[in-house]
Amino acid sequence: MSEPIVEVKNLKKYFPITGGLLNRTIGHVKAVDDISLSIRAGETFGLVGESGSGKSTVGRTILRLTDKTSGEVLFKGIDLHTLPPKELRKLRPQMQLIFQDPYSSLNPRVRVGDAIGEALLDHGILQKGEVRDRVEEVLAACGLSSYHYDRFPHEFSGGQRQRIGIARALVLDPALIIADEPVSALDVSIQAQIINLFRGLQESQGLTYLFISHDLSVVEHLCTRIGVMYLGSMMETAPRDELFRNPLHPYTKALLSAVPIPIPKLKRDRIVLKGDIPSPANPPSGCKFHTRCPFATEICKAEIPQFRHVGSDHYVACHLVN
Ligand code: SF4
Repeated sequence: MSEPIVEVKNLKKYFPITGGLLNRTIGHVKAVDDISLSIRAGETFGLVGESGSGKSTVGRTILRLTDKTSGEVLFKGIDLHTLPPKELRKLRPQMQLIFQDPYSSLNPRVRVGDAIGEALLDHGILQKGEVRDRVEEVLAACGLSSYHYDRFPHEFSGGQRQRIGIARALVLDPALIIADEPVSALDVSIQAQIINLFRGLQESQGLTYLFISHDLSVVEHLCTRIGVMYLGSMMETAPRDELFRNPLHPYTKALLSAVPIPIPKLKRDRIVLKGDIPSPANPPSGCKFHTRCPFATEICKAEIPQFRHVGSDHYVACHLVN
């Protein structure tokens, strides 16, 4: 088993809610509430959960694009949140983020090749005359051609734009890529192509991914381990096959029941959760899932379940699971 490249320990990220005449802090949105996880070098860790579960905030806090409230984030053993800005900037090329909508981060008047190459100049990695060759190399690795270098963002389809987003991250030769819902805006057939591209690049470049998605069927084909988040807390983590074969947390079971099986005669019994995800500004007591869990008992309302190891690299937070 390889060494962890990222270690997150008891991470909390609370956003203040302000109000009143004096604009005082009157509460907090607990977007990430005591999360621990590790991502091993060369693996793809999938982080799944409904919208509002805090998974994107975990990604942004790992990269220190937002400050933590408490806890620790280590990248290659270095505490990113205590690093002086100059030192952090030196590490930035090694950690890249890919968005759901790469178009919004591209200047419509800048040629795509220049947009991909600008970080190489910003970080002083290459001289101006060397950039084009490197960008063309990365365009080819991402399934684009050298003639795309001089095109503008509006000339590309959704799938091609995501390839540009991946190229922008890849050009810096990162060790870690955090991909936040990178295929959820794409048609299913294009999703498969982009997932195959992620997988191919991982094999050829030895990349490590944190892959964030609301959809378990997307992470199923790419991830080695999966973490399931609900309302800022981790409910279950396990290796991919173990999670799909033996889900233990009722929330994971509900999410899995919505994943189609590619065998027409086989069907999963769909578990439909009642109600919406509660507000992270006022999460339920005890187990945060108890207001929607079909198996909730009195202890679930009163006590927070421990996140416990239950075997085979499998962890779960549920009073029902011994
Ligand atoms: Fe359901 Fe209780 Fe388990 Fe929470 S601790 S998931 S409410 S059974």
